[in-house]
Amino acid sequence: MNVAVTPRRSRVLQRSSVTLPPKAVGGHGVWLVEEGGREVLDASGGAAVSCLGHQHPAIIEAIKAQADKLCYAHTGFFTNEPAEALAEKLVGHEPGGLAQAYFVAGGSEAVEASIKLARQYFLEIGQPQRTRFIARTQSYHGNTLGALSAGGNAARKAPYAPLLSPAFSHVSPAFAYHGAEPGESEEAHVARLAAELEAEFQRLGPQNVAAFMAETVVGATAGCVPPPAGYFKAMRAVCDRHGALLILDEVMSGMGRTGTLHAWEQEGISPDIQAIAKGLGGGYQPIGAVLVAGRVVDAIEQGSGAFQHGHTYLAHPIPCAAALAVQHVIEREGLLENVKAMGELLQQRLAARFGNHAHVGDIRGRGLFRAIELVEDRASRTPFDPARKLNARIKKEAFARGLACYPGGGTLDGVAGDHVLLAPPYIVSAEEVGLIVDRLGEAVDAAL
Ligand code: PLP
Repeated sequence: MNVAVTPRRSRVLQRSSVTLPPKAVGGHGVWLVEEGGREVLDASGGAAVSCLGHQHPAIIEAIKAQADKLCYAHTGFFTNEPAEALAEKLVGHEPGGLAQAYFVAGGSEAVEASIKLARQYFLEIGQPQRTRFIARTQSYHGNTLGALSAGGNAARKAPYAPLLSPAFSHVSPAFAYHGAEPGESEEAHVARLAAELEAEFQRLGPQNVAAFMAETVVGATAGCVPPPAGYFKAMRAVCDRHGALLILDEVMSGMGRTGTLHAWEQEGISPDIQAIAKGLGGGYQPIGAVLVAGRVVDAIEQGSGAFQHGHTYLAHPIPCAAALAVQHVIEREGLLENVKAMGELLQQRLAARFGNHAHVGDIRGRGLFRAIELVEDRASRTPFDPARKLNARIKKEAFARGLACYPGGGTLDGVAGDHVLLAPPYIVSAEEVGLIVDRLGEAVDAAL
């Protein structure tokens, strides 16, 4: 039988069927190299992934060494050395009560496992009616169906609405730039958000709520929005009052990105369950994890004895070895200090370049997790018409100037407020910070 063959530009199903991206063939430090030799400054580490930059020899060595020893052993039969060592590194001294780590292959898997773990916890302790989860309207928790249900991004959810779980409801984000009332103090704003969460518990019946889930510092949907002071303490208090768990999604904001290993360390609270990924493997291997508090671990150990969940590639030795090496490099090279110092410098340089810009309304973030938000009108904080596709244009103009940055909001996420997210590798130098801001400045002006 003769079947007509449609000519394809690429046999890889690309994100866009309109444009074929250039081929990346190499990298060094903060730079990515395209076929043909052009170098692009990776100012967002993809989406806050490449925390050590590209081709770090210590990570490549660790991957090779592990591949020489053991590539795979199913967790139904075995544990393995790198997984045990990585878990020890992450939760060995029980930071904030986190006692065990569950290794998966990425952020969405970590969020799915977090949700199911919370559900199982309440089954173990005899509260099976706790089936409701509260998240926030401006949030992204991943693209698998459970994680997408938890997220608040309407545009990303819309096509799949009939498939999503009704177990999730959403409250307002902690986003002062758009969410605080005129003249409202930070304290009053936090109190209002806590009252809203309390009201949602009451609406659902507090005895029915399993957990509140939030990104510690909001990433893609809003562009590096740190919580107002006292926000997580107030949210934790609402959860504690009603016996619900706090799940923090640090897939983007965790693993050193904001200057501390966990972003929650700056909030004076700790989660019961935490999802991490991206910077955990630094892009060298696909890996995510769920960090689990002792009381959740204990409930399972003293109850059914096993987390009723699993994937083929749990705790894969090679990604675990790579992630362990990432942690060693961060420690050895004192990179959290560089995140703090270069993060401050990036904020200063952004403020110098965009502080008086007619269409940059906000410059924000923590550590090396920074964003600018574009507005039509600074005084009223009115976003641009999404039809202008400003975001996509900035990305294109920046890329043409050899800068990869991560745009969000606007037309891309269907959330008001175009922004550009910057998350350069922790090894970034002052000179490279300057280059990022110069190229971004030119790109923004060209796109407007
Ligand atoms: N959670 C947050 C906060 C994220 O930013 C992302 C990805 O951007 C995810 C979850 C999903 O992670 P992944 O894309 O690795 O599945």
